[in-house]
Amino acid sequence: MKNECSIVRDLLPLYTENMVSTDTKAFVAEHLKNCEACRKEYEQIQEPRPVQKTNEAAPLQNLSRKLKMKRIQTIALTAVFVIALFVSAFAVLGAPIYQPYSEGLVTVEKFGEKGLTLIFDENVTDFRCEVFDVPTEISAACICKIEAWTTLWDKWFSKGRERLSTVIVSTGEPANAYYQPKPMELYYLPNDGGSSICIARYDPNAENQIEIDGKTEGLTALPRLMLGYYLIFASAALVIAVIVWLFTRKEQNVRLWVERVGLYPVAYIVSHCIISGIDWSTYSISRDFSLTIFLSILLYSGLLLAHNIWYLKKEIKTVNR
Ligand SMILES: [Zn+2]
Repeated sequence: MKNECSIVRDLLPLYTENMVSTDTKAFVAEHLKNCEACRKEYEQIQEPRPVQKTNEAAPLQNLSRKLKMKRIQTIALTAVFVIALFVSAFAVLGAPIYQPYSEGLVTVEKFGEKGLTLIFDENVTDFRCEVFDVPTEISAACICKIEAWTTLWDKWFSKGRERLSTVIVSTGEPANAYYQPKPMELYYLPNDGGSSICIARYDPNAENQIEIDGKTEGLTALPRLMLGYYLIFASAALVIAVIVWLFTRKEQNVRLWVERVGLYPVAYIVSHCIISGIDWSTYSISRDFSLTIFLSILLYSGLLLAHNIWYLKKEIKTVNR
């Protein structure tokens, strides 16, 4: 009987597929009728194999899910790219183009008891004026810092506007026991790396209250060293990314993320070269830095998009193969 069981079990796969002779078929059927162990074995073979089936379908399902995710990513990245494009365009259009100092750029007139009116020439479309009270030991006067600029947007789209003007008032502790206001010194910051220029001095207590200067140099603006440091930092980050990339040849997933992260330093370095290469005739660290950031985000989203599409294409190719 045991011997018969092992023969039947050997035959069962063929029997299930109906690939046996009539005699063998009858023999196996007869044995199955009487032997429960073999019958169980037969039933197991006959059952559909759901486990195996999912095993076959799973990679395909995974892949189609992956492709779907990649498509959504691509759409999202496209949206980010378009937004970054608009923001960058506005940033460039609205970035200050500082005016170099010239006679007549700012006209100073007396205003009331202790104020001054500043009138800018027609090329100035925006300005900043700050009055600082300096401790008396350092300077007997308040300092007024003036910057004036225009933008590409204003150059192109707002012609024939009125001349800008503002009123500044001497602040701080009274200069003497008669509660007369402190004198003021007005400095213009050309934002070109050169020194600020004293435009005028105003002493409300003197006879000749406004003294026009235009020659005396004041504080020197800080050079754009910071931007150089950021560039070095970005280059170092890129070098590290390349090294990690070279050492993770076998780990595709890690490599993918190294590529994604490593693209940002690339975008930053390119943006730095573009922005610092443009001749703004004058410069400002804050303007140049913010423009570099805007442009690098734009480039980065573009690079990510291209990177994603490249991987998508590669994966579609492998699926079709
Ligand atoms: Zn049996």
